[in-house]
Amino acid sequence: MVLLGAIDQGTSSSRFIVFEADSCSPVADHQIEVKQLFPEPGWVEMDPEEIYSTVVECIEKTCTTLQELGITLDELKAVGIANQRETTVVWDRESGKPLYNAIVWLDGRTSDLAEECIQRCPSREKDYFKPKAGLPISPYFSALKLRWLLQNVEAVRAAKERGSLCFGTIDTWLLWRLTGSYVTDVTNASRTLLMDIHKRKWSSELCAFFEIPFEILPEIRSSAEIYGYFSSGSLKGIPISGCLGDQQAAMVGHGCLDVGDTKNTYGTGTFMLCNTGTNQIVSKHGLLTTVGFQFGPNAPVCYALEGSGSIGGNVVRFLRDNFGFIQNASEIEELAKTVDDTNGVYFVPAFSGLYTPYWDSTARGLIIGLTQGTTRAHIALAALKSVTFQTAEMLDSVESDLHGYGKIQTLKMDGGMTKNQLFNQLQADTLGRSIICSKFPDITGLGAAIAAGIGTGHLTLEEFSRNSNSRTISYQPKISEVQKDNENRRWKEAVKRARNWTQI
Ligand code: ADP
Repeated sequence: MVLLGAIDQGTSSSRFIVFEADSCSPVADHQIEVKQLFPEPGWVEMDPEEIYSTVVECIEKTCTTLQELGITLDELKAVGIANQRETTVVWDRESGKPLYNAIVWLDGRTSDLAEECIQRCPSREKDYFKPKAGLPISPYFSALKLRWLLQNVEAVRAAKERGSLCFGTIDTWLLWRLTGSYVTDVTNASRTLLMDIHKRKWSSELCAFFEIPFEILPEIRSSAEIYGYFSSGSLKGIPISGCLGDQQAAMVGHGCLDVGDTKNTYGTGTFMLCNTGTNQIVSKHGLLTTVGFQFGPNAPVCYALEGSGSIGGNVVRFLRDNFGFIQNASEIEELAKTVDDTNGVYFVPAFSGLYTPYWDSTARGLIIGLTQGTTRAHIALAALKSVTFQTAEMLDSVESDLHGYGKIQTLKMDGGMTKNQLFNQLQADTLGRSIICSKFPDITGLGAAIAAGIGTGHLTLEEFSRNSNSRTISYQPKISEVQKDNENRRWKEAVKRARNWTQI
């Protein structure tokens, strides 16, 4: 039996999953929730040591399970990484220690810096670098977080002077700690706002603009090749040979391998990726151009259009942790089901601004339409619906940019929120079309494991497409077109009211 492993390091948790290569079925796994820190309003950090140690613990616990199942570890041929993207870590090469907490993709501390950068562009537009980087200037991407660290943290500046400063997204941090290699993959690099997506190299123009020295950046590699070997622990000597940003990994895991294939993942945020093949489409509707995958150093690059949503499972976590509406995320389904509708309530959880299609870092959350009769249940239902409205806006953008391709027939969905059947039905209703949910929860991990198998030659993309796990469940819309349009219109009105709030 050939086994492939996947590290899935997300914003909510770290996981390790082992798959059987032929059937793509999971054999064993372990998952640990990771802490998010909120040191100031709008700031979101994580501890890089906790990220690393939870990954190691997940690997060791899974290895124990494998042994209990009578499986020897030499059947595990390769490991891939899927990771939360953009999150920025800086460490000292000599001491090996992080110089600051990881600044998480959701963190909004650089909104002023982003505005300052936009004003420095000749066109004074956030999309000035979009033709080169595929991305607008936004606090979301690593370049601004790294700039902030260089400007504000003395230890980072000192390490830069000593020549021992290392920067990495979570893939690089883990690869460096686990194997000693200082590399990133092309999908993660495409999220930094420092890479030229056409040349797949760090851009001297972008690095100069954001004042990022070249020498602190890792080497950019493809998504499937051997980056290094585990240097310790139960997996010592096994190669890490696949690496994808988590959203790209989910795209691969879903088997979205042809032009027009589209998936949406509902984790902490919401991310829609549409495969555009070798075409690098520059969006006119607030989408990002991103690298989908490159399976081998000489393989063609597959690109994707991406809708990024700051709104996702974090709204459920917010109602759980900040308001105590529920004890566990799963309880939101029962609570929201106790009412037939939101009673006119709309919730725009723009806690750190809005991404696609608005890219407005000055927006903040609101709940509107409150009456004396509003209950927790109405707010819970409005929270779930907010995520579905955001998805409808993303899908509109994708279809507008893909003109000539036609309507996207089915949206493939996965992620923590899709365990909630009410939510899935609401999503079909808001879109007015059928959706397909993966019954298989580890789509992201599967994508990373596939990349790892390709990286060592144990698997080809063709074999994966033939054998891929197709256990799915579909949902059909149940509300009228008129109701759907009316609700989407009212959502847009609520969004208008949430925008620009930090500037007022
Ligand atoms: P990530 O990959 O970002 O770590 P996951 O895919 O693990 O995220 O999803 C976790 C998110 O899903 C959490 O923010 C949580 O609030 C949300 N979530 C989990 N279960 C449910 C549920 N039954 N209904 C709604 N949201 C849920």
